[in-house]
Amino acid sequence: MSRNGTPYHRLLNSPRWKALRAFKLDCNPFCEDCARKGMIVPAEEVHHIRPVEYERNPDRMALRAFDPGNLAALCRECHRERHRQMRSHSPRENAERAKRDAEEFWKKFG
Ligand SMILES: [Zn+2]
Repeated sequence: MSRNGTPYHRLLNSPRWKALRAFKLDCNPFCEDCARKGMIVPAEEVHHIRPVEYERNPDRMALRAFDPGNLAALCRECHRERHRQMRSHSPRENAERAKRDAEEFWKKFG
């Protein structure tokens, strides 16, 4: 399946998402993360706080995608930063899982 054909990308191309995204930026024209640091920066992108792209059930994906409470208006830089932080979760989780697996191994065979 091509990247543009995934349910997530179809969702992002839907008129419903484009309308909600425009509405969110109308309501929150300034970056929410920058505002917390006392800076006024125009918001350019709308971020899903609970990630939508990992949700496999299409109904739950839509619920999450179109939940106004799940949206954050961000500048490009803060949006990148949020995704960097989300990605940095998984290596740590993987490392913890590997450690647990190793402990199990040594309990059995050590
Ligand atoms: Zn920002």
